[in-house]
Amino acid sequence: MPDFSTQSARPSVVREALDFDVLFVGAGPSNLAGLWRLLDLVEARKLTGLTIGLIEKGDEIGDHAFSGAVLDPAALVELCPDYLDRGFPVEGTVAHEEVWYFTQRSGLRAPFPPPFLHNHGFPIVSLSRMVRWMAAELEKREVPGVDVMLLPGFAGSKVLWEDGRVVGVQTADRGVNADGTMRSTFEPGNELRAKVTVFGEGPRGHLMRELDAVLGLQAGAVNPQVYESGAKEIWEIPAGRVPDGFVLHSAGWPQADGESGGSFVYKMGGDRLAVGYVISMDTRDPFADAHLMLQKFKTHPRIQAMLQGGKMVQYGGKALAIGGWNSMPRLAFAGGMLVGDAAQMVNAGRLKGIHLGMKGGLCAAGAIADALAEGDFSEKSLQRYSHAFLASWAGTELYRSRNFHQIIGHGLSVGALLKLGLSQITGGWVPGDPLRAGEDARATDSVEAFHGKSGLKRDQLDWGPRPDGVLTFSKLDDVYASGTLHDEHQPGHLKIVKGDAVCVSCWETRGAPCTVFCPAQVYEMHPDERGQVAKVAIAYSNCVHCKTCDIKCPEGNVVWTPPEGGGGPKYTLC
Ligand SMILES: Cc1cc2nc3c(=O)[nH]c(=O)nc-3n(C[C@H](O)[C@H](O)[C@H](O)COP(=O)(O)OP(=O)(O)OC[C@H]3O[C@@H](n4cnc5c(N)ncnc54)[C@H](O)[C@@H]3O)c2cc1C
Repeated sequence: MPDFSTQSARPSVVREALDFDVLFVGAGPSNLAGLWRLLDLVEARKLTGLTIGLIEKGDEIGDHAFSGAVLDPAALVELCPDYLDRGFPVEGTVAHEEVWYFTQRSGLRAPFPPPFLHNHGFPIVSLSRMVRWMAAELEKREVPGVDVMLLPGFAGSKVLWEDGRVVGVQTADRGVNADGTMRSTFEPGNELRAKVTVFGEGPRGHLMRELDAVLGLQAGAVNPQVYESGAKEIWEIPAGRVPDGFVLHSAGWPQADGESGGSFVYKMGGDRLAVGYVISMDTRDPFADAHLMLQKFKTHPRIQAMLQGGKMVQYGGKALAIGGWNSMPRLAFAGGMLVGDAAQMVNAGRLKGIHLGMKGGLCAAGAIADALAEGDFSEKSLQRYSHAFLASWAGTELYRSRNFHQIIGHGLSVGALLKLGLSQITGGWVPGDPLRAGEDARATDSVEAFHGKSGLKRDQLDWGPRPDGVLTFSKLDDVYASGTLHDEHQPGHLKIVKGDAVCVSCWETRGAPCTVFCPAQVYEMHPDERGQVAKVAIAYSNCVHCKTCDIKCPEGNVVWTPPEGGGGPKYTLC
């Protein structure tokens, strides 16, 4: 496994080692639920003398949290039945649901939502506000004999190994120049050593990549890990324009025929609206772009009418793991576990993963408490987590939705609708079960193969409405609204691993999809003095950490690595 992290390759540096019993990597809902439940369990079992840590690459917990989001509260109720009394930040409760198949100017509205999109009574949340609340509740918590450290601003840059078992992570160095030399402010990353490390990095984790390369975690899965790419804007709209509890989902326009994706519009508190779009990354279209789909989507009369007179106040982008049951890796191994999107715990049909990831955290905590009590951190011991999760309601939900993405992966044809209906009756079974999925990046066609029939050149394709700064926005305007900031002196965290020549040939054959799919306009192909495209220019500091490039680069030429901790987006409402 090549070490892509320029941050960590400094053998002469002396690193402080900190010892934990349990270390959580990533402060998403999955790991925060895991930590919370673990504290409940160790308190109930009177396990003392423990040190438990959690690191998060965002400057504050919640800065990098991005979702839709309508929350199925099943796992939250298990974790904290009185969550409403404890000030859980609810934006609204789903009361008005619309499901549409849009055409450009109109559409067909479903008389009632299909079962998998039935959200009535569920809370609408901002994931950023939700995880901030979870972290604040954890900060208040005191468990006798247990030290808890929540450490935002620390990115795990590589896995620590000992005799083939995971023994923690090393955090990223800070104060390094782009050429690798150290500044006077240099702070070496620490070695955080733990008996159990729980990886909850979200979709396409950098550490997960290393774990899989060493341990072959994905080897037993039917399918590889697969993803959607999502972009979302938060709008302030005129008071009373959209009723509280309003939720809209749509398929159809602006997605091209044969492609899969859809929209969501959720009414938030304070007359705010979340408007988002997701596209499947196994699309053949080399120019598929969630940001572009979102800009087009907002021009639909039904959506424009809601946004008119409003103001866009925040933007973000992120990948979403959609493989579910058939893409799940091995969940536990000696010294470690995977939870949440890192383990593809998402129901693609419901566009929901928060409750499944949280259930993963709860089950992981149960196995960790047993392991702490018995002093056994072997794979066999930690596999109790896997058995508990797969046998739980979350396992059943993922199993029943196991073929969803492959059924609708190439659009909502009559055949796809019939199969979808059948799968609802049979508990997920359809002919050919389990339906296979390939690597997302491999699905990308050449420009000629995909657009050749139209005879159109790149600049003649439909690139959507010209951004007017009122209803529609350029990527750079939107990135500004994401609050994204990185120290620009550090080494670039997006590694071109096979060289620029590969990018240039990709530009010639596939039109360099990264210059289109990145929702933050990080990649541009720049001509040299002779006007020939010879180099990819990477605006690292725009990166919103969505991971789309790492997943969808058709040449496998981009590897996302964590920048020094604290950089990235600054979501507060996403
Ligand atoms: C557009 C979109 C819409 C969605 N809508 C919904 C919805 O309506 N309902 C729903 O239930 N789900 C929805 N989801 C899915 C949901 O957001 C995820 O399933 C859920 O957030 C997964 O939680 P997690 O804890 O596994 O990971 P995440 O929420 O991704 O959190 C991972 C955390 O780990 C941190 N991290 C990553 N790597 C490192 C590292 N190396 N070191 C330190 N920290 C690290 C990240 O900064 C992040 O804070 C949506 C997702 C998207 C993209």
